[in-house]
Amino acid sequence: MSDWLNKLTTEHVRSLKPYESARRLFSANEGQNRTWLNANEAPEAPSFNISSELLNRYPDCQPHSLIEAYAQYAQVGQNQVLATRGADEGIELLIRAFCTPGKDSVLICPPTYGMYAISARTFNVGVKSVPTQSDFSINKEQVISESGHVKLVFLCSPNNPTGTLIPQDTIRDIAKAHAKTAIVVVDEAYIEFSQEYTASKLISEFDNVVVLRTLSKAFALAGIRCGFMLSSEAIKQVLLKVIAPYPVPDPVAQIATKALSEEGLSIMQERVAFLSSELKALSESLENIKQVELVGQQCGNFVLFKSPQNSDLMQYLVSKDMLIRDQSKQINLDKCLRITVGNQEQNNQVRALIEQFFDETTITESSESK
Ligand SMILES: *Cc1c(COP(=O)(O)O)cnc(C)c1O
Repeated sequence: MSDWLNKLTTEHVRSLKPYESARRLFSANEGQNRTWLNANEAPEAPSFNISSELLNRYPDCQPHSLIEAYAQYAQVGQNQVLATRGADEGIELLIRAFCTPGKDSVLICPPTYGMYAISARTFNVGVKSVPTQSDFSINKEQVISESGHVKLVFLCSPNNPTGTLIPQDTIRDIAKAHAKTAIVVVDEAYIEFSQEYTASKLISEFDNVVVLRTLSKAFALAGIRCGFMLSSEAIKQVLLKVIAPYPVPDPVAQIATKALSEEGLSIMQERVAFLSSELKALSESLENIKQVELVGQQCGNFVLFKSPQNSDLMQYLVSKDMLIRDQSKQINLDKCLRITVGNQEQNNQVRALIEQFFDETTITESSESK
C-alpha cells in the first residue's frame, strides 16, 4: 500500500485484517461441485415471486408489514422490533450507539461468534474476554464482576460454534448485575432449532436486554441479509438514530414478509424438524468413530467435534470438495472442526468421507509400524 494511504488510514483500521468469513475462505462462485457445510446455511433455497412495482421508490426505513409479521412471529410488540441488514448490522448498531471509541469496551465469552470482537475493533472499541468454563457454560461470576466496566455484554444462545444454550436464570442474573450500566445482548441466530429456550420474554422484564434474530439460518435466507433486534421501545429509538435511512431494500422486505407468513412459517418449521433429525443422525454416527469426540451440544444446525488428526482431516475433506469449518484457532477449541448439517445426501457424504479418512490413516499407520 502507498505510504500516504497508509498514513491516511486511521491507526486502529491500519492493523485490522478482513474477517475470514466462511464465504471469503471459499467463494460461492468457485467450484460448482463443492459441498458447502461450512457456514451454517440451509441446504436449499426457498423460491419467491416478487413485484418490481416500487423499485423506483426509496423503501420505508422500517417496512410496516415486515415489522408486523416479525412481531407476530416473535410474540412481541411492533414497537419492540427493529429490522436490520442481518443480525450483523444489529451488532454494529449497538456498538456505535453505546460505545465511545477509544474509551469503552464490550464483553464477549469465547469461544463464540467472531463478529462481536471484529465489529468492536473496527470502531476502536475495547474487547474484554471472559472465556466460558470447560463445559462451555458462561462464567457468570466473572461476567457479573465486570459490571460498570463494559457497555455491552454479548451472550450467544445457542452458541456458535459450541451449540450450547445459556440458561434463562443466568441471563437474568447478568442483566440484573449490569442494570443501568450495560446492555445485555442475547444472540439467538439459531433459536428456531431450540425454540423453547428463547429469551424474548426478557426484553419486557429488563430494560437492558436485547435479543438478536436473523432469517439467515432456519429461514434459509442468508442471501437477502435480513435480521431483527427485539428490545424495549426506548432502545429501539436510540438505534433508529444511527441506522441507515433505508436499511431494508424493497425486494428484501417482500421476501422476508412472505417467509414470515403462515405458509412461510410452516415451511420453516418443516425444515427445522428435518435438519434437527438429520443433525441427530449425523452426530450419532460421528460419535461412533473412534478418533472423533463430539464437543459442546447440538442445539443449532451444526455439530462440533474434536479429532487428533483435525488438520489432515480438514485437508482431506477440502481435496474431496467437502467444505467444513476449522474452529481449532479459537480458545478451548484445540483440534475442533464444525460441520453444518446439510441435506440427506450431503450428510451421508461427509460421514462417509470422514470414515474413509480414518480407515485410510489407520491402515497407513499399522503398515508403517510393521
Ligand atoms: C450467522 C450468525 C449471525 C449473522 O447473522 P446475519 O443475519 O446473517 O448477519 C449472527 N450471530 C450468530 C451467532 C451467527 O451464527
